[in-house]
Amino acid sequence: MIKYNLTCKCSFTFDSWFASSEEFERLMKRKIVTCIECNSNDVNKSIMAPNVSYSKKNNNNNYKFQKNIKKKIIEYQKFIEKNCRYVGDNFAQEVRSIYYDDKKETKGIYGRVSAEEIEELHEEGIETTAIPWYDKTEN
Ligand SMILES: [Zn+2]
Repeated sequence: MIKYNLTCKCSFTFDSWFASSEEFERLMKRKIVTCIECNSNDVNKSIMAPNVSYSKKNNNNNYKFQKNIKKKIIEYQKFIEKNCRYVGDNFAQEVRSIYYDDKKETKGIYGRVSAEEIEELHEEGIETTAIPWYDKTEN
């Protein structure tokens, strides 16, 4: 697994995990990697600026910015948890059964899925959104 810091054209920055750098390039080419803020696929790997030129103030702002992103993601997570049905590792299977069997599903679903499965679903015309997920046991 490899973590990339991604920046969207809307200037939103977020971290995302990928199986490998090759996998990342593949997903980027297929425009599957989307911004969690505006859902645009106009995202790029951030050029990580070393901390050397940051003043203390900037570092502080940077830290606050990171905290805000985390807060936002956690809010988003809560929204998903409240409004969607958790299907765990069966995500790909469940999403297919909704897509193909026209299953009456009033709620959205969420769960764990691998980058490969996302790509497979995408090839089948099923759009999914991946967001970084904070483990609640963290902190
Ligand atoms: Zn964006």
